[in-house]
Amino acid sequence: MSRLPLTRRRGGSILVPTAISLLVAALLIWSVVDEWRFAQQRIGVAIDETEQGLMIDVVEPDTPAAQAGLQVGDRLLSLEGNAFSTLSELDEILERHQEPGKPLRGRIERDGRTVDIELTPGTALDLAGLLAKFVLVAAYLGLAALAGRYQKQDLRARILTIFVALVAIELAIPDGHTLGTLAITASVLFWLLSTGAQIGMELHLVSLIPGRLPVLKRHPRLVWGYYAIGAGAGLGLTGLAVHQWYFAAPGGPDLLGVAETTVFLTWAISAVGILSWQAWRADSARATNQALMVLAGLLPWAIYVIVSSLWSGWAGLDPDIAEQIENIVLLIFPATVFLAIFRYGLFDVETLVRRGLVYGSVTVLVIVVLYTLLTTALPLVERQLGTQTGQWIITACALLIGVLFRPLRHGIERLVERGFFPSRRALRYLLIQVARGLSTQNRLESLIQQLANDTREAMDLSWSAVVAVDEPQKGLATAFSEGIEPKQRDRLTWLLNERSEAFEILDRLRRPITVNRLRRQNEQAAEDLSTAGAEVLLPLYFQRRMIGILCLGRKLNGELFRREEIELLDLFSHQIATSLENLRLFQDATYEELTGLLRREVVLRQLDTEAARAVRKNTPLSVCMIDLDHFKAVNDAHGHLFGDRILARVAEVMRERVRAVDALGRYGGEEFLLVLPDTDGEGARKLAEELRRAVADLAFEVPDESGTLGVTISIGTATGTSDDDDADEFAARLLRGADNAVFQAKSSGRNRIVDGS
Ligand code: GH3
Ligand code: MG
Ligand code: MG
Repeated sequence: MSRLPLTRRRGGSILVPTAISLLVAALLIWSVVDEWRFAQQRIGVAIDETEQGLMIDVVEPDTPAAQAGLQVGDRLLSLEGNAFSTLSELDEILERHQEPGKPLRGRIERDGRTVDIELTPGTALDLAGLLAKFVLVAAYLGLAALAGRYQKQDLRARILTIFVALVAIELAIPDGHTLGTLAITASVLFWLLSTGAQIGMELHLVSLIPGRLPVLKRHPRLVWGYYAIGAGAGLGLTGLAVHQWYFAAPGGPDLLGVAETTVFLTWAISAVGILSWQAWRADSARATNQALMVLAGLLPWAIYVIVSSLWSGWAGLDPDIAEQIENIVLLIFPATVFLAIFRYGLFDVETLVRRGLVYGSVTVLVIVVLYTLLTTALPLVERQLGTQTGQWIITACALLIGVLFRPLRHGIERLVERGFFPSRRALRYLLIQVARGLSTQNRLESLIQQLANDTREAMDLSWSAVVAVDEPQKGLATAFSEGIEPKQRDRLTWLLNERSEAFEILDRLRRPITVNRLRRQNEQAAEDLSTAGAEVLLPLYFQRRMIGILCLGRKLNGELFRREEIELLDLFSHQIATSLENLRLFQDATYEELTGLLRREVVLRQLDTEAARAVRKNTPLSVCMIDLDHFKAVNDAHGHLFGDRILARVAEVMRERVRAVDALGRYGGEEFLLVLPDTDGEGARKLAEELRRAVADLAFEVPDESGTLGVTISIGTATGTSDDDDADEFAARLLRGADNAVFQAKSSGRNRIVDGS
């Protein structure tokens, strides 16, 4: 619906992704080297360059600086006998004198006195920081890879790919503690220019989610404005940086800082503004969800930008904590874009990646995050509980994660299934439901009714309908779920009947089709169905014969059906068709056509079964033989068709009055056999009397004549307990008794009941 027009580019080369991956890997290795060398040189202070000289700004605990007794506010004077007053002079001296493990002697000024100090540089490698960086870079690269696979079809995916790849590179760049001024300058310049590019891309991207901004539709060139703004911001910041480093007097106003804050604030507010507008203006629930989801991912970053630039307390925050917060905030954005992709179908990921891949990546991500948390927690726990206890606890936790790996993976699979592939879950539920329903439904009408209800409920549809081709004389059997108006029902029955265009097309295609696709085949039929609210048509065919249509209304959440869902439904429709056909065969074999009562052989088999049970349980069993009186005369006077109508109606009246456990069948032309399990003579007589009266009360309009006609029945009953008969003999005895009794009823005047036991 909100897909953008495709501008296809040929030749998906793997050159660019490979180059980017190699670059990122090289940068990460470089980062490790940098951090390693930095750790060896580090003394654990932050130094402020002022007009008075170099002042100590921060002293980190548990570092050589803290151990040597350095304090905030100390002024650095000399090192190894060399005086200095700027950072670059200090770097030069350090370069000359520093060797791993060798103590350095220095002099500082504190409260007007000079103090001699001695410290040996070297701290532990910042493993947690490195790991966090790896996870972050991997997450961004993963997203880039995913979006990259889709980029040929969607402009948004193309922008997202470049955007996240750029962020991945930016994040992989070493912090540059030990890389020399040139490398640091280069990386800062890259960062500023890349920021400019990101501004342009992000504004462009949010203007396309869920669909193109109306103003961009009218003036497509306006989009270059975003990139012009981004380029302006990037170049402006770069210019300011160069000015500040090389030309401005030290201690002047921090123009670069102010400009950076302004740029980031404007960026964050614009992106959030555009996306909010998009979410507000979206024309479907699905589109709103897409925009809101991406907005939810953007908001933490925007809040972070606003808080960190406007709240003065931010600068005073522990830099480690500030960095962790930034890392987490940065992870939220790709994570929610991922979610938007999966959950709200920003791209149709199910067709891109196998489910196994999703399970795998999510599991790996969770495991990496857990171990990262552990590594991060190690110093904290050590500080609280002592080194040894702390290490024991962390090791135990690490082992526990290992042991819990399998259940964890299963849990994640279930979560992924529920969160990312809800339709698959719904469909599985549906299949189970229908399979269950099959064993309980023995009438076609109730089966298709249940099918309509279950599909609607399981897939959260506005409605669902089944049109099934039944017996030739009876025509269509239809069932509609709730949520569809009576008027629409007639319309749909008409649109989907055996002679309809839709039926014919489906019969030809032999696979499911969306109403949208149907347009290509038959514009008018599609239009009519669409007006009725239909979205997907599934042909139900058994062997080579199409026996019906399952028609699905729209999804209540406004989403469209995905291709994979339709494929699964296709599979499912075969099962439905088989069930319908089996049920039909079962019905044909069980029920007699004219009256809908049991066939003669079925009711006789039922008699045998009940006789056997009565013998086993020693319970009474009754049978009734029912015969219409003077029926030949009715036929002769008014024709066989009229006679048939009477037979069907009499059967219906009797069926309504017997219990579910009773078996009523058509024994002969106008003779019926009724088997009443666990019923004594009194019970049988009462029921027979009720049937006799009900039939006698019927009045049939005689065709082509005024006036009505009534019919009566004669009933012979027979009741018995098995005594010492065997089951077959018992059944035969009852049947004989009832037969004789009906003969007696006839000869003694008809329209009566005679007990023949
Ligand atoms: P009674 O039983 O009272 O002695 O009289 P009857 O006229 O019913 O006699 P009988 O049982 O011998 O005749 C059965 C008649 O039922 C013969 C036939 O005309 C009619 N009949 C049997 N099967 C059908 C059927 O399927 N449709 C119709 N219309 N008539 C049937
Ligand atoms: Mg008769
Ligand atoms: Mg008869």
